[in-house]
This record gives sequence, structure tokens and C-alpha cells, in this order.
Amino acid sequence: MNGHPVLMCMTRMSTLPVDEPITISPMRAFPIMRDLVTDVSYNFEVAKLIPAFRPRPRDPDGLYRMAQVDIDRGQEFHKCIECFLCQNICHVIRDHEENKPRYAGPRFLVRLAELEMHPLDTLDRRDYIRRDMGIGYCNITKCCTEVCPEDIHITDNAIIPLKERLVDAHYDPIAWIGRKITRRPAPLPASEARKHTGAAHAQPGPGGPDPGAASGSPGSPGPGSSDRPATPPGPADDTGSAAPGPGNGA
Ligand code: SF4
Ligand code: SF4
Repeated sequence: MNGHPVLMCMTRMSTLPVDEPITISPMRAFPIMRDLVTDVSYNFEVAKLIPAFRPRPRDPDGLYRMAQVDIDRGQEFHKCIECFLCQNICHVIRDHEENKPRYAGPRFLVRLAELEMHPLDTLDRRDYIRRDMGIGYCNITKCCTEVCPEDIHITDNAIIPLKERLVDAHYDPIAWIGRKITRRPAPLPASEARKHTGAAHAQPGPGGPDPGAASGSPGSPGPGSSDRPATPPGPADDTGSAAPGPGNGA
């Protein structure tokens, strides 16, 4: 409304100038079908590529036990209403149609953070997030956070922690040694994670490691990074990173 990405249903008339016209425009990041209606099927195609929640077995008494702090960490992400305002404002996909096959967008990085931080989940999606979800394309401008009507801190609480986890997995030798010493069980790697997507008819993609993708700092992704193909990736695409770590079977 008036050039600002907002929910019309939640915008009070009292917040709009009474002596000026009100302009309502369709979302810009998606193809217009008619009037204000846009084709947001891109979002649903990405949603089908997210490896689903896979919990560990229950405790011997049949219960799950989680620390409250771990539950609290992901609680914020559950507030998402999938309005796609963040997808619409993200310049990576709004201004570059060609990036859509390579970048999931903020809404789906929130979803991936929710899964990765879930205390019961057993899949390791880090390699998948780096290469196939294209997290390196995000340069932390925080535009998505500013427009989120649910006040989800998309960049600070979802994207940046995900980037930090990627750095831990691939580039932090001290963290790797620490995991070896504590003998933490390795979560299922990305190759296994892909089997849990809706991608039944996967096609192999170019793939390839991208240090910039997991830099944790603003920066542009390198060519060949985050090469999520337009069609879902297949098991043959699991080239992964050569760096040691529990996520890649070291
Ligand atoms: S912070 Fe990242 S996801 Fe959010 S709008 Fe900017 S580039 Fe897009
Ligand atoms: S993260 Fe916020 S802006 Fe993005 S889809 Fe969810 S509720 Fe909407």
C-alpha cells in the first residue's frame, strides 16, 4: 500500500494520510496474473524441497524430553503466516528473476532454521542449505526483517545463525576437534536429507562448494555457489564439501 509492503487486512485506515490517494499494488517479486493477483507458485515449489522434520526415537518411557531453552529458540519461527512479504521485498529474487532457481528466499531460510534448531530433529541440512538453498545469496540487508508482520527477526535469529552453523561445519577446525573429542553422534547428512523432500523425481545439478555462502558476513556469492537447480536435486548431486565434519561423514 502506497509503495510499502504491508498486509492490507492489518493496516488501519487511521495510519494512512486522509488527504492523499491510497495506492494498492500487487507484489513485485512474482508474476502478475490479473489485477492484484500474483502467481506465488515459486514459493510452493521451494517449500516442497525442504527436507521434512525427522525426530529421534522416543525415550524408553515413550516420551520426548527437550530443554526449555531449545524450545524457546525456535518458537519465534512458528509465528510465520506465510504471507510472503519477506519473499517479495528480498532484492535477491525481486530484482533478479534468474536467482529464483538458486535461492530459497527468507521465508524458507526461516523454515530451515526452525528445523535445524529443533532439539528432536536428526537431519543435518547444513550442506543442503549452503548449496541447494543458496543461503550465500543473502547479504544481510535485513529488508525482510523490517517488513515481517509477525516481527520475526529473520536475519538475526534465522539466517545469521544458519550461516554460523555452516561455518562450524565446514571451516572451523576447533569445533571439528571438539566434536571428535565429545564424540557427538553425527546427524544424517544432506544426501540423506534430500530423501525426505518432496523431490521424488530429482535431477542432478551442478552444485559445488562456495566459501562465501557460509561466510556469516555480507558478501556476494560466487559463481556456481548455491546452485539449487530449477528441478529438485538428486542423490547423484551429493558432491558435498571436502572439509571434515560430522555432517559429511568424516
Ligand atoms: S537479509 Fe537476506 S533474505 Fe533478507 S531481504 Fe536481505 S538479502 Fe533477502
Ligand atoms: S517470515 Fe514474516 S514476512 Fe516472511 S512469510 Fe513469514 S510472516 Fe510473512
